[in-house]
Amino acid sequence: MESIIEATGKNDLGLDHDGIHQLANEHGSSFYVLNVNKLRGNYRKIDTAFKSRYENFIIGYSYKTNYLPYLCKELSNLGAYAEVVSRLEYDLAIRIGEDPMRIIFNGPLKTMDDITYALNNKSIINIDSLYEIDFVKEFALSNPDIEVSIGLRVNFDISQNGVSALQEGYKLSRFGICVNNGNLKHALTELRTIKNIRIVGLHGHFSTKNRSLESYKIITQNLCMLAKENILDSLEYIDVGGGIYGELPESYNTNVPTFDDYAETICGILNKEFDGLEKKPLLILEPGVAMVANVFLFIAEVIESKKIRDEYFVLVDGSVHNVKPTMHKNNLPMRIVRKNPDIDTVKQSFNIVGYTCMEKDYLAFEIKDRLPMKDDYIIFENVGAYTIVFNPPFIKERPGIVAMNHTEFTTVRRKETIKQFFNEEIYIF
Ligand SMILES: *Cc1c(COP(=O)(O)O)cnc(C)c1O
Repeated sequence: MESIIEATGKNDLGLDHDGIHQLANEHGSSFYVLNVNKLRGNYRKIDTAFKSRYENFIIGYSYKTNYLPYLCKELSNLGAYAEVVSRLEYDLAIRIGEDPMRIIFNGPLKTMDDITYALNNKSIINIDSLYEIDFVKEFALSNPDIEVSIGLRVNFDISQNGVSALQEGYKLSRFGICVNNGNLKHALTELRTIKNIRIVGLHGHFSTKNRSLESYKIITQNLCMLAKENILDSLEYIDVGGGIYGELPESYNTNVPTFDDYAETICGILNKEFDGLEKKPLLILEPGVAMVANVFLFIAEVIESKKIRDEYFVLVDGSVHNVKPTMHKNNLPMRIVRKNPDIDTVKQSFNIVGYTCMEKDYLAFEIKDRLPMKDDYIIFENVGAYTIVFNPPFIKERPGIVAMNHTEFTTVRRKETIKQFFNEEIYIF
């Protein structure tokens, strides 16, 4: 809670108040900054941790976490495949120029048309439910000359000593094809009735509470075992999904597994399970949060600091939706960039609140620092995951996004206008 850091001189933007003010003149009094160098660093660190331990490795970047086109393209250039969970995301990957063979198509909802399109494109497809099997069979039957490769997302128990490892404590995951009730066997039998279908991979993404190494041990071990038991002859990949921790801000002061720890656990199991195999299967990791959370900042101008009874409320040109769409109560790491850093005021407690008309629009709670003043800026850090994709167009247009590449700043999403907000192609006036 007391993690706020004065940024009177240079901050990680390398800008003082004047510099930020200049950007604000161009982009509006609130906007996001994407730190491109840090994004490259995240990609390189994850890639190196795994590749140094298991050569046949790729990263499939989880689009849904943040599908800013510029960011997806940058990751693609670095070497990441596109991991998409809807036709919208699939089409975005095509739109940014991704090679369809480097798209991994996951997700619980796919139509016959989606599957036909992706199979014709030779994308990697993991089917999530039994209904998709009919689509794959239909495609294979009407295209007997095409060798149809397909992966299966599988669902098994990953609880530890009877305790659920899943987010929110869910007892079961709702995704994938259930191993325990025999559905996997059924799916394999069904797909094998068609000669030109090959089952080439298994996928096991689980959203766990603590993203622990133990969970990855269970997931990887199960995937290897199921692959060896059922599809060893045609096996091309093991996809362990996403869900790993990224590098957390120092102020969080918590110990979480590093990229090396995850790689050691996951690659260790693959190396052991496929020891002696001439061509080891491809290992796919699908990071989302770990890749992008710490590469975005949100900058908002302070409009006023006001007092209600004994409490201070700092109003900014921003909303909780811009920084924490899930509205969790933890404060993000943040900095105040003061217009007049030398004015000496006493530290006190204040909340940072937003422009919407909801009582719960708090960007931060009970900060203890010198009270921010009008025309100061507040920088919220670590806002890259689920903000750009989730913040609803509510009450105000969406802010712009600026990419910072070394010392260069370029617009990668313009500030929205009323014309785009109420798009006349879809709204009837
Ligand atoms: C959301 C998702 C991911 C990314 O999860 P993170 O926790 O952001 O790493 C990867 N794979 C699938 C299938 C997903 O749905």
